[in-house]
Amino acid sequence: MDIIHLLPDSVANQIAAGEVIQRPASCLKELVENSLDAGATRVQVIVRDAGRTLLQVIDNGVGMSEMDARLAFERHATSKIREAQDLFSLRTMGFRGEALASICAVAQVEMTTRRAEDETGTLIEIHGSDVIRQEVCSCPVGTNIKVSNLFFNVPVRRKFLKSDQTELRNLLTEFYHIVLVYPKVAFTFVHNDEIVLELPVGTEKQRIEAVFGNPKRNVYTSNFVDVNTETDLVSIRGFVIKPESATRKAEQYFFVNGRYMRHPYFLKAVQTAYSGMLTADYQPSFFIYFDINPEAIDVNIHPTKTEIKFADEQAIFQILMASAREALGKFSLAPQIDFDTTGSIDIPLPTGRPVERPQVTVDPHYNPFHTRGAIYPDRQQPVKGWESLYEGLSNTQNTPSTPINPSIPIVDSAPLWQHGKYVFMSTEEGLLLIHPHRAHAAVLYAQFMEQIAHAQGAMQQLLFPEVLSLQPDEMILIEQILSDLRTIGFELEQLSPDSYSIQGVPAQIVNQSPIPVLQDILHQVRTYGASTQEQWRKQIAASLAEQAAIPTGKSLTDSEMRDIVTRLMALPNYRRTADGKTIVSLVTDEELSKRF
Ligand code: ADP
Ligand code: MG
Repeated sequence: MDIIHLLPDSVANQIAAGEVIQRPASCLKELVENSLDAGATRVQVIVRDAGRTLLQVIDNGVGMSEMDARLAFERHATSKIREAQDLFSLRTMGFRGEALASICAVAQVEMTTRRAEDETGTLIEIHGSDVIRQEVCSCPVGTNIKVSNLFFNVPVRRKFLKSDQTELRNLLTEFYHIVLVYPKVAFTFVHNDEIVLELPVGTEKQRIEAVFGNPKRNVYTSNFVDVNTETDLVSIRGFVIKPESATRKAEQYFFVNGRYMRHPYFLKAVQTAYSGMLTADYQPSFFIYFDINPEAIDVNIHPTKTEIKFADEQAIFQILMASAREALGKFSLAPQIDFDTTGSIDIPLPTGRPVERPQVTVDPHYNPFHTRGAIYPDRQQPVKGWESLYEGLSNTQNTPSTPINPSIPIVDSAPLWQHGKYVFMSTEEGLLLIHPHRAHAAVLYAQFMEQIAHAQGAMQQLLFPEVLSLQPDEMILIEQILSDLRTIGFELEQLSPDSYSIQGVPAQIVNQSPIPVLQDILHQVRTYGASTQEQWRKQIAASLAEQAAIPTGKSLTDSEMRDIVTRLMALPNYRRTADGKTIVSLVTDEELSKRF
């Protein structure tokens, strides 16, 4: 007997929906993108219960004919591309013809739509891929689509939705990604009958201000400088924050041809442009818009389409870094920026496209893969390659009492006491001030690096396994670093296409809640280095160390202090953390006597 059969469309659509529509935010994104593709100049978003109950998008775009209104919900039905070749010259947000088919497979959808040339419009109602009714109606020009009870027929997905607060945040994040590239379109966003955002038509800068210029987000465009570079390969425009206005939590946005993208490699380019200008821990906010020949990018690598591949990533990296630096150099009050930008780089040409070589001056010795420490070198006393600070650690661990550097204070019986955040130790040269949290983090960092390198992580089983839900891009990332996470002591099993169960954790963090710990690791790896194993191991170790270290300000017993300080002094570099922060500071006897 033959056993292969074709799945009914409704089932195929539900499966496909899992790819495209993971949560209300992905549904919102698809709907709003459709409105923009339809040339709307005004888009209203109405949401109830963070999208669980209702997601409605009303636009004044071109609308659809009666026939198109029905076809729009079929899979692979699109008006945007006709042949594969068109994929390489995309100027619309959508092109797969999957979104509406996916949405109507997992929700109750009601749509009214009318074209300007038609007297009457069309109303169509579809529940879980079944057309309930289709009729003529009277409605304004444009499209009004109401998606109710998302995942009503996929209880598992519904269950995996997070709290309303989180889902609302996701909705707004998607919304920002879109509204920031369409300042010429007016938007409103209403949640549970309250206007959350009202965005009039304006310039890009006004749009940024309208979204982020409030005490909560704290991003004001007057703190930004313009970036503007035209080359034949790419045009880069946008705004980067003045170094002195940077904060810990930054708003970092890249857009390419009117589409939001994530690009860790280009992020590095911007961070590098800020080298030496930011206090440790601070991040640059920026809004950068790339315009590039669509042939030179591939937006097709992921269904949710936030990762975009460029044909000339290295060349663009250099151009981006040079233009951000130039912008900062021109306007910033920051100290010296190093403009040793000699020579011009050889920019590879996109194939099949005759372009002139752009002349961009860059530093030919520049290494794009510098890790976090390189971004925050200390101004007075540069830390040379912190990567090497912990090398040779295994030696020192075997003989912890061997001083590496003759001036290392002897801890054994030295008086130690705590005052506020700091621990004080009396030494031959003076009074040593120690930051115990950083000291502990440095010790743990070295320990984690050692364990990860020699597969010695100690795992502690969890009594109650926890579920870690992840976005598609995080799923990719976690797979990439999974074996290292296991080495260091995490026991993780994949549960579903978007979740893992956490069954065990490294012994050092057994008292912490494992989900935020892992989320921080992923964040850190993604932000500071996921390109090589060496990089992500450092980030895993740094994140764990930071999280497992004793909190700043905790009061310590004498033996705790002694233990931390002893282990700190055994490190090859006990003065600074891996990312360059000061751990110890000496007040010399001379300085002390000057005070009297
Ligand atoms: P895609 O956007 O990838 O083409 P969708 O499933 O999102 O696929 O939409 C299918 C088609 O329905 C679109 O190509 C477009 O022709 C039409 N459509 C969808 N939404 C709208 C809208 N708001 N206004 C006008 N046409 C729309
Ligand atoms: Mg679409």
